Amino acid sequence: MESILVLTHTALSSETEADSGAVLTRASLEALSAGIELAARLGAPLAIGIVAVDAQSAAAAVSSAGARLLGVSGESFGQPRYSTDAAACEALCRAAQATIVLAPGSSRFARVAAGIAHRLGGVIDTHVTALAGTTTIEASRWFYRQRVEAVLSRDARPWFLLLDSGTHAAFAGDPAPAQVELVAVQLPQPRTEVSGLRAPSHGAQTIRPDAKLLFVAGAGWTKKQPDGQTHVTEAADLILGFLRGSGASLGSSKSLVDQTGENQQVLPFLTHLNQIGQTGATPRHRKGLSTCCYGEEPHVVGWRFISERRAINLDPNCGWARGKADVVYIANAFQVMAELNRLLNPGP
Ligand SMILES: Cc1cc2nc3c(=O)[nH]c(=O)nc-3n(C[C@H](O)[C@H](O)[C@H](O)COP(=O)(O)OP(=O)(O)OC[C@H]3O[C@@H](n4cnc5c(N)ncnc54)[C@H](O)[C@@H]3O)c2cc1C
Repeated sequence: MESILVLTHTALSSETEADSGAVLTRASLEALSAGIELAARLGAPLAIGIVAVDAQSAAAAVSSAGARLLGVSGESFGQPRYSTDAAACEALCRAAQATIVLAPGSSRFARVAAGIAHRLGGVIDTHVTALAGTTTIEASRWFYRQRVEAVLSRDARPWFLLLDSGTHAAFAGDPAPAQVELVAVQLPQPRTEVSGLRAPSHGAQTIRPDAKLLFVAGAGWTKKQPDGQTHVTEAADLILGFLRGSGASLGSSKSLVDQTGENQQVLPFLTHLNQIGQTGATPRHRKGLSTCCYGEEPHVVGWRFISERRAINLDPNCGWARGKADVVYIANAFQVMAELNRLLNPGP
């Protein structure tokens, strides 16, 4: 019979207002939902492994899942670090003796999961978006830039499955005190010390996979406007103001991020990592708002997993108006975003 372990970790202090040692990430809670569903379908026992400064406190949020709770606790687990995270996850996997290990595909676990699978003589699949099957496990993932969906099953165990965030509802049980079995970890001599965090682009972390809204900026923001002038500084202020007020994740069209290499005036906080589309990313957010972007097919294919789509464009014949968005506002995005920011950030 299968035995399932869901590995979880807490959020960093930069990701949450609360005590960073005790709050499980949203992606961890999504992996737990997937684990609960799978365990119920297979009739298999379920365990939750917690990597945290304080696993006991972190466990309160998941105690109502009715699973066996295993944890590693200590300051060493407060920061992502290959050696300590790999040692922690390996110890949890050995303690749980699981045949199936589910984990969020966070940067923290994506870095160590293949190594742990190797240490345990197991196999791993990443970017898993769905789990099905009642007698065997069928894991779905997309290949070739989301064009081909494959369903995988394997005989080898333990089988590690890293789940893409946004593919499952986050577990939301009533918090209650929990009894965690603390697992001892043999930590290697540390060679890496985390001295701090540096945000990748001009102090602003603009890519937020957990955000409800994707805000896309297109090349129109840097083009000549109806007054015959460009207004790039104003565009930057409007976009950053909206991100601050809404907590949205920032995406971009290829034309806009390509301008960096074309010596045009650019929005300094955008990089190719923000690019959405055929040659960019295909993020998962419940809603999307496109601004100053035409909505050409190579861009819009990156919106495959965005359920509710709206766009603001001056052009009533833009691609969004041709069936690619649910609502298109034919309007000047500078004016619309200024008004939205006023509503989101009312002055004193
Ligand atoms: C092989 C290939 C792969 C590609 N991959 C990608 C990809 O991954 N991602 C991607 O994005 N593109 C990709 N492209 C490019 C894509 O085809 C388009 O060229 C690109 O998306 C256009 O970007 P844009 O809409 O921002 O710019 P534009 O086409 O220049 O559109 C700017 C829009 O802004 C509007 N606008 C201007 N001012 C305002 C205002 N004040 N208010 C409201 N609207 C305003 C204009 O009406 C216009 O529609 C690819 C192309 C190819 C050939």
